[in-house]
Amino acid sequence: MQISVRLKLNTTKEQSEALIDTMRVFNALCTDIARNHPDATNAFSLHSLVYREVVATSPLSSQFVIRAIARVAGANKTRKTQLSSKKLPKKKHRPAAHCSFARFSAVPYDARLLNMSSLLSGETVSIASLRGRQKIKVCLDRRNLDVLLSGKIAGGALLVRSRREDFFLALVVDIPEAESIHAADVLGIDMGVVNIVVCSDGTAFLSDHVDKRRQRYARARKSLQEKGTRSAKRRLKKIGDRERKFRRDVNHCISKQIVAHAEGTKSAIALEDLLGINARATVRKKERARRFGWSFAQLRFFIEYKAKLHGVDVIAVPPAYTSQTCPECGHVDKKNRPSQDTFTCWSCGYEGNADYVASLNIRALGIKILESIPQPARSAGLLLGARQCARNVAPSVETMTDNIKGTPLKGTDSNPHESVSGSYKPVTSVMGN
Ligand SMILES: [Zn+2]
Repeated sequence: MQISVRLKLNTTKEQSEALIDTMRVFNALCTDIARNHPDATNAFSLHSLVYREVVATSPLSSQFVIRAIARVAGANKTRKTQLSSKKLPKKKHRPAAHCSFARFSAVPYDARLLNMSSLLSGETVSIASLRGRQKIKVCLDRRNLDVLLSGKIAGGALLVRSRREDFFLALVVDIPEAESIHAADVLGIDMGVVNIVVCSDGTAFLSDHVDKRRQRYARARKSLQEKGTRSAKRRLKKIGDRERKFRRDVNHCISKQIVAHAEGTKSAIALEDLLGINARATVRKKERARRFGWSFAQLRFFIEYKAKLHGVDVIAVPPAYTSQTCPECGHVDKKNRPSQDTFTCWSCGYEGNADYVASLNIRALGIKILESIPQPARSAGLLLGARQCARNVAPSVETMTDNIKGTPLKGTDSNPHESVSGSYKPVTSVMGN
């Protein structure tokens, strides 16, 4: 499996200027080559045509020239395919005569231009620029470390300049997938209204401070939108970035705990099919912001890829009626759901928290699907060693979201998992960091 990683570079002012220069000159060179050879799609033949001349005249090193030639050949090829494709809608204006590259479009770096040998030990990279090699500090958070230590960097990197004029290295890391653990049980996951996630073992993820922060962001956004001044817009964007980062952190944290728990209890994870998450039920206006204000698709993606890394199977179940079915007697009725957060069965009188009931139904569907698939032999999680190692490297890097713990949901004393797996442990102790 390939995971992309973005590493922020802590550049000094001089280093930033060196990188800016490099980007500008490199992209201008690419545009130049493309202008003179708009139809060259083969890097080797383009190389023999232009290399000597370009190296003699360009201030960039020969390795940059090699990268520029390969990039132009690639772009020309893409352009040719697009022009010859009849599926593309015809544009009103004529297509450009050649490829051109924006001033600050990403610059490809290969192993000769970018040395990452002290990335993990010294948190620095040595990166070629117009003004010689720059040794630049890299921000390594624990998640990036986790990914980097779990696999190998595939190919080169892209030097990216963000809108805020920060520099990043975009890498792709090849990570071996763990073999599937033999699932003896299924952990049903409901992504819901009141709680971000409720698991079928009764764990709910929504600490008060997540909700409070969510509301605080919403309030701040509203008042700034009403102001509408230029500085308000700037603040709005800042808040948006911060809120996105906050959600991502929380999603990382929740997904990690869910997967760790599933792995520890040898369970597969059952989720509703993607479409079900926001489309399942009509949501009252008051609840709408909470429900649609969370990136469930991202959380799902995080759960899926972390599960893959740990050999935990993920089962997608059809979302229909998971919120209206009685987990005790199987009675399906809209009336079973008198309000957003309560469930009362009209047939047998079973009562419970609606999200929890949904997670039970998702689990039941997951078990059905799991039983219909033959399971491959169990194997040990290959990546645990690497993860442990990552922790030892950066024991002090803690994010606030590490404080988010799943808490037992009130009123869910009966534990359905006991009937299937005898070795069940309370979630809080399993999920601790
Ligand atoms: Zn019932």
